[in-house]
Amino acid sequence: MTKQEILSETSLFLLDLDGTVYLGNRPIGAMQETLARLRGMGKRLVFLTNNSSRTEAEYRENLTRIGLFSAEDGVYTSGMATAEYLRAHFPGKRVYLVGTTALAEEFAGSGIALDDEAPEVAVLAYDTQLTFRKIRTLDRFLRAGVPFLATHPDDVCPTEDGSMPDVGAFLAMFYRSSRRCPDAVIGKPYTPMGDGLAKKYGVPRDRMCMVGDRMHTDIRFANNNGMRSILVLSGETTARSMKRFRDVPDLVLPDLNEIFR
Ligand SMILES: [Mg+2]
Repeated sequence: MTKQEILSETSLFLLDLDGTVYLGNRPIGAMQETLARLRGMGKRLVFLTNNSSRTEAEYRENLTRIGLFSAEDGVYTSGMATAEYLRAHFPGKRVYLVGTTALAEEFAGSGIALDDEAPEVAVLAYDTQLTFRKIRTLDRFLRAGVPFLATHPDDVCPTEDGSMPDVGAFLAMFYRSSRRCPDAVIGKPYTPMGDGLAKKYGVPRDRMCMVGDRMHTDIRFANNNGMRSILVLSGETTARSMKRFRDVPDLVLPDLNEIFR
């Protein structure tokens, strides 16, 4: 598709964070002006992240601090999508959450009953406060057959000096100890996060365009959910490495600012 076609057919842009709008917290090029121009055309902007260690409020604060967030924009995390999935598929059920204190507060604030004694469903989020006690407790519930959700599948989380182990790495550990794989994974590239977005924003999926730098999460997510996609080469993927993936983006740009050049 052309830039013009994408711009005219999209009502809501889903923006990945690292490698797409910023690199290590530094906005990429003239990103502030690019986002302002999209807003000026009446486009809704939603910042989308698989990182479930931080809350909506924390992302809003950080994006505002670096000048990328405007009051009319949205933030949607895999943690928020998981809370929505629990309300839809496990209404009123008691949840064992392996997650940060911040996420536990966000879950509790949205009416989810947390329980570490006799839960009816278990959730593995990106817990940067993980302890052996939590590992042992989740393993026990998994071996007892409690339904099991993971917020997202990423093996690693990018950092300024390389990467850190993420939920995918934890899932490998829990598979080795319990022989359980999650019954559902919520975040990119899967469909529960797309369902959550469609419900929250009331925009049909074919009017959404996912902009991201990772083929196997961002572009696969768009294709799995019937959305448009823009691959930006400002992060993980290069013009050469993109050919190794079976997914094809609708448009490839050196970075998002190029959409107006
Ligand atoms: Mg990224």
